[in-house]
Amino acid sequence: MPTDLSAYAAEHGVKYFMISYTDLFGGQRAKLVPAQAIGDMQRDGAGFAGFATWLDLTPAHPDVFALPDPASVIRLPWKPDVAWVAADCTMEDEPVAQAPRVVLKRLVERAAAEGLRVKTGVEAEFFLLNPDGSAISDLYDTAEKPCYDQQAVMRRYDVIAEICDAMLELGWKPYQNDHEDANGQFEMNWEYDDALATADKHSFFKFMVKSVAEKHGLRATFMPKPFKGLTGNGCHCHISVWNTDGTRNAFADKEMPFGLSAKGKCFLGGIMKHASALAAITNPTVNSYKRINAPRTISGATWAPNSVTWTGNNRTHMVRVPGPGRFELRLPDGAANPYLLQAIVIAAGLDGIACDADPGPHRDIDMYREGHTITDAPRLPLNLLDALREFEKDEGLRGALGTEFSSAYLKLKHGEWNSYCSQFTHWERDTTLDI
Ligand code: ADP
Ligand code: MG
Ligand code: MG
Ligand code: MG
Ligand code: MG
Repeated sequence: MPTDLSAYAAEHGVKYFMISYTDLFGGQRAKLVPAQAIGDMQRDGAGFAGFATWLDLTPAHPDVFALPDPASVIRLPWKPDVAWVAADCTMEDEPVAQAPRVVLKRLVERAAAEGLRVKTGVEAEFFLLNPDGSAISDLYDTAEKPCYDQQAVMRRYDVIAEICDAMLELGWKPYQNDHEDANGQFEMNWEYDDALATADKHSFFKFMVKSVAEKHGLRATFMPKPFKGLTGNGCHCHISVWNTDGTRNAFADKEMPFGLSAKGKCFLGGIMKHASALAAITNPTVNSYKRINAPRTISGATWAPNSVTWTGNNRTHMVRVPGPGRFELRLPDGAANPYLLQAIVIAAGLDGIACDADPGPHRDIDMYREGHTITDAPRLPLNLLDALREFEKDEGLRGALGTEFSSAYLKLKHGEWNSYCSQFTHWERDTTLDI
């Protein structure tokens, strides 16, 4: 793993580094730094006016210095002169407590202090659109059930293969690519890793997909529900917890139902206990709530949950245990901040372990047809405001993410909700004009 970025530049012929941090809304903010200057930047960080991004800072605050983490460096496969490197925000030599990568690193450390190593894989679905974003890019991609459509995935071979080749070259161990359940929608899967590594890869993946799509004259979107009536962009997260040296999966137990150990069940119990509150992070936009709780799509199913339930290998629930030693959280969507997604999973899971949380009974029904028969499981929040209020109420979860982070997040997200509410819509005109 690289430790010295100057040496890395010399060895690989890198001309520029992109020192990149992620703000609270998931935006990636970067400075392009010539290789000659990277030595100083690695020591002191790259300077940013924090107020200019979503960090809940004022214009009067001192500069943010983003310190690159050399372990995360990646040469851009589509522009090899440049290397991207994830950075941690600092101010006056202290970490900025509300910065998402800082929040995640603290939780990873907390887990490590308990001898736990959380490993995760994400499935970041996306659509390929025309450049103005108004419609999918492939006029022939119109099937009612387009999932795994062989012809349609081949029409986008140049984009998909370029991205997959890059992941192969980077050693991410990608293993499959497909057309997903909505027209214009794709998914690419690579191997799971430690939570921080997955968050860095997830961030880079979004950057790469958008960049390669643009190179091919297209536009990629991870928006949770870009089209009414079509399946939305999920970002399922598969989770397991290992011992410190990564040799033993503490979630695996052949003797237990679904092969999920007692520890795994407690971690899952934490996710179930905090589900409504953690939606504020895993489903962070107004649009997110058009994906969950949604009516049936044209393909026949939304593939997104509506209630806080778990099960075995059945994709109609919030949590699925697809096989021994891991579970899949199907709640998160494409708008989830890669760092906060991992952070909230660890925060909820550690609490579950700490209090021996019981995930409740597994429900092995088709939630889309028979969900109404379950009356004792909470419904997921119906909109962003409900989710923010649940998060506000969940003192334990707020504390685990850090009070600075939680209040900054709530403040900015309430601002977003209020901005949404100030919109005048066609719907209200249509339904109210003749009242
Ligand atoms: P599906 O579409 O069936 O939900 P995918 O194959 O698309 O599953 O994605 C599965 C993800 O789960 C991948 O990122 C994979 O590496 C990851 N994964 C597999 N095993 C584990 C595990 N033990 N812990 C965490 N993630 C895992
Ligand atoms: Mg300036
Ligand atoms: Mg998948
Ligand atoms: Mg999928
Ligand atoms: Mg999945």
